[in-house]
Amino acid sequence: MLMIDGAMTTQMLGRFQEIVKVLGDAEEAINEILQVNPRNNEVTAFRAYIDSKLQKLGQESENMRMTFTNTPNIAGGFCVGCRKNISFDTQTVVFRKTSSTQLEVWHLPCFKQMGNKN
Ligand SMILES: [Zn+2]
Repeated sequence: MLMIDGAMTTQMLGRFQEIVKVLGDAEEAINEILQVNPRNNEVTAFRAYIDSKLQKLGQESENMRMTFTNTPNIAGGFCVGCRKNISFDTQTVVFRKTSSTQLEVWHLPCFKQMGNKN
């Protein structure tokens, strides 16, 4: 069983993008410094550091986005409990594997309700 808070994931992806943007700005500033003083070892090293961070962050946010956008395709857009639409961007949802190929998706409250009945 996997629980995903859509609002939190969206927020987290937003923060990722912010960090990537800040690092990108820093890289631009460093490039300007390097144009004036191309032999500055410290700046060159710092630039390599930012490059590697940017790459890693970009990859991680891409992985996260892929997982997040693929899951609804696999599970479908409806809650198994109430048969209503699920908004993956804003609602907390529960995924449950019912067989090797089947993935159920529930609203968290619906899933809890089902648990109480049984
Ligand atoms: Zn529901």
